Amino acid sequence: MNIYYHPQYNISLGLLNYLHPFDGRKFSRVFKTIKGLNDINIKQPEYPVSQKIINNFVGEIQRRLLHRKRYILRALEIPYIPLLPFSIIDKRILLPMRWGVGGTIAATTDALKDNNAWNLAGGYHHATPRNSQGFCIYNDIGIALQEASAAGLISETDKILIVDVDAHHGNGNAYTFMDNQNVTILDIYNNDVYPQNNLTKERVNINVPLAAGAEGSQYNEALKNALGELKSDYRIAYVIAGTDVLASDPLGGLGLSVPECVERDKMVYEKLLSLSIPTVFVGGGGYSSESAQAIIESIKCLHRLDEPESTRVSGIHPFSGFQFMPE
Ligand SMILES: [Zn+2]
Repeated sequence: MNIYYHPQYNISLGLLNYLHPFDGRKFSRVFKTIKGLNDINIKQPEYPVSQKIINNFVGEIQRRLLHRKRYILRALEIPYIPLLPFSIIDKRILLPMRWGVGGTIAATTDALKDNNAWNLAGGYHHATPRNSQGFCIYNDIGIALQEASAAGLISETDKILIVDVDAHHGNGNAYTFMDNQNVTILDIYNNDVYPQNNLTKERVNINVPLAAGAEGSQYNEALKNALGELKSDYRIAYVIAGTDVLASDPLGGLGLSVPECVERDKMVYEKLLSLSIPTVFVGGGGYSSESAQAIIESIKCLHRLDEPESTRVSGIHPFSGFQFMPE
């Protein structure tokens, strides 16, 4: 599995950091740890997604709105600040996100050429071609599929799978692919938080709404059952691996521990590997101090699954059951 990271992914909000729980330096912390691990192949997208590619994807009104400060700040859930120039927002927040979309495009190309990939950024699942919201400006999966199609890597009849295990319902993806029956969406989410949109929830093919506060064991049991419904005839799968499912997350409202979050990603990847579906993991949300650690542990775990069975080191250390008991 290739890991996509670029130093430009990191969002520096400066004083705005106090206005949103988003941890824009999380990507660099993940990178610093995984670059020291053996055999992890870290790649960089060569470019941020271009304005031209974005313009091909979005509608005419959205094309203009993407350059309007008030609109963008609302989508970023940041209060309107009169003296803040749009150019600063563009450079500090939107450009990193365009690099993130560039990462999803590059990771998609890898997956379609038989190299599964994890883009640390991306997973902007609340954005659509007509609307930006929920800290998501550009719908990276829609744009990546547009580019894969233009490059002849996927055809009109190819089936696409989205497995959304972020804590929030992926209303943007559901809307973007509302009329595209080639796209199957599995979405497991906290039904009691943003976004509350019945129309997009109805679009989800395998819909797993959970009540706020659902524990990790309940979450992973429900996810296991949902994964059991998947078939093998997909050209590519995207996994929105938001770590806002962690109990420590201020926004997600679910109750997973770090090991349970890693188990979640392991279950998903094992299933997709067993069905031989080329796979791209994308970042999604994750706003707690444990988020980076959960991502690092998942990358290590998934990397082990990539190794051939014969060379895989057993996860159980011969002495792991031994505990020193003080008298
Ligand atoms: Zn989320």
